[in-house]
Amino acid sequence: MILERYVISGLIWGNELVWTDTKGELICLITNDAEGDKLEMMREEYEGLLPELITRAAGYGMELFMADASKKVDNSGTIALIGGKLVDVKTGAVTEHSVVVIEDGKISKVGTVGGMMIPVGAKEIRIEGKTLLPGLWDMHSHFEQAEWGPAYLAAGVTTVRDCGNEFEYINAVKRSIDEGKGVGPHILKAGIVDGPGALGLGIVRANTPEEAVAVVRRYKDSGFAQIKIYSSVTPEVVKAICEEAHKLGLTVTGHIPEGMTLMQGVDSGMDMVNHIQYVYSVMKLNTDRTVNWDDPKTKEVIDFVVSHHVVVDATLGVFEMIFRSVKDPITNMEPAFHSLPQPLQVLFVNMGMPAENAEKFKPLFRDLEKIVKVLHDRGVTLVAGTDMGFPGWSVDRELELYVEAGLTPLEALQTATIIPARAMKMESETGSIEVGKNADMLIIDGDPLRQIRDVRKVRTVVKDGVLYDPGQLHKMAGFLP
Ligand SMILES: [Zn+2]
Repeated sequence: MILERYVISGLIWGNELVWTDTKGELICLITNDAEGDKLEMMREEYEGLLPELITRAAGYGMELFMADASKKVDNSGTIALIGGKLVDVKTGAVTEHSVVVIEDGKISKVGTVGGMMIPVGAKEIRIEGKTLLPGLWDMHSHFEQAEWGPAYLAAGVTTVRDCGNEFEYINAVKRSIDEGKGVGPHILKAGIVDGPGALGLGIVRANTPEEAVAVVRRYKDSGFAQIKIYSSVTPEVVKAICEEAHKLGLTVTGHIPEGMTLMQGVDSGMDMVNHIQYVYSVMKLNTDRTVNWDDPKTKEVIDFVVSHHVVVDATLGVFEMIFRSVKDPITNMEPAFHSLPQPLQVLFVNMGMPAENAEKFKPLFRDLEKIVKVLHDRGVTLVAGTDMGFPGWSVDRELELYVEAGLTPLEALQTATIIPARAMKMESETGSIEVGKNADMLIIDGDPLRQIRDVRKVRTVVKDGVLYDPGQLHKMAGFLP
């Protein structure tokens, strides 16, 4: 069967794909809606082709901007980054005048200028006055379109956990990046599963423990690292998902399903929880919805999260966006707002609430921040996650909010580097700048340890030893200069 493919751009962020038959009759449309979620429409008689077309949409989406990218970067030789200020995110120790040598995509040597031999023939890059950080992580991504790839890298995000996507789409996007046909961060896949009911999300559903087992196995067979439980899964199915996942060496994250509490979710086997609201909502709340910090129930919740080693991605940025006054300048949250693709500017500038309502929610948002700080101080594993937002930059915003909550800049940076690497059991290969690890790092024009906002000043991104220019990546993703 021969289909014609059309690409439409300029409507919303990125490209829309349309297929017709040879007579020009519409067969399929793959695009994104105004919230950035994927939208597919298909002539009913061809519905069986949808998984194949979703796969192709992912590949074509990447190819479209790859065609605009200038000649491929040469990744073969040895590279030495010389003179930068190297941050050890594990301890906060700083090495001035450092040397980091990269070979075959890995970090092969770390030392100081004058204190080590730079391999003969290495391409020497001088980075005096700049800070060298490990690549950042977004532990709550939804890779909804190909443009997220360059947008993430441009912001210094070299690894993401995709917290739920279409099966075929995320598989194809990951494959395309890993094979060098596309550009983007490393992707760890969390396979989403929901339960029955009108509010259910997506087409992967588990209504019985048997179906739960089958879903988990399918994800495991396709290289997923984790299962993401969504809001309509029933308690007995949550249990079955967690049991099977753990048996197969996967972890489980997710929403706490409707009708369950954080404690029930965790007792059923959930290792991680997305969104701080699930911790907040089981605390003792005052009539104005703020937290009653003196109530024993609030203390019990905190003790529970601590003693059960629950990993939490707070997504504070999501709540900041929901509670913001539409009267406040959006550049407070995102200083580079005006370089976002135009359709995204229109989308974000209208998010939030009227000023008088926003004023009422301020104490509640401060409480969410306080929960983050209290959990952090009690040793809970906090990982930085965004749930989308300003593509790439929302990771920076999340870290700024952690600092606003009371973490030090180093502690905030840890939530997007070494801590997620540990949480995903990948500490031996990534998460910090050490010999033997992936060469994923950022050359920063400033000092984020002093001022977290400097994390936005990424001059060069290194992923798997390949150097990328953020300006060029942003151009690929349709950002304005
Ligand atoms: Zn999400």
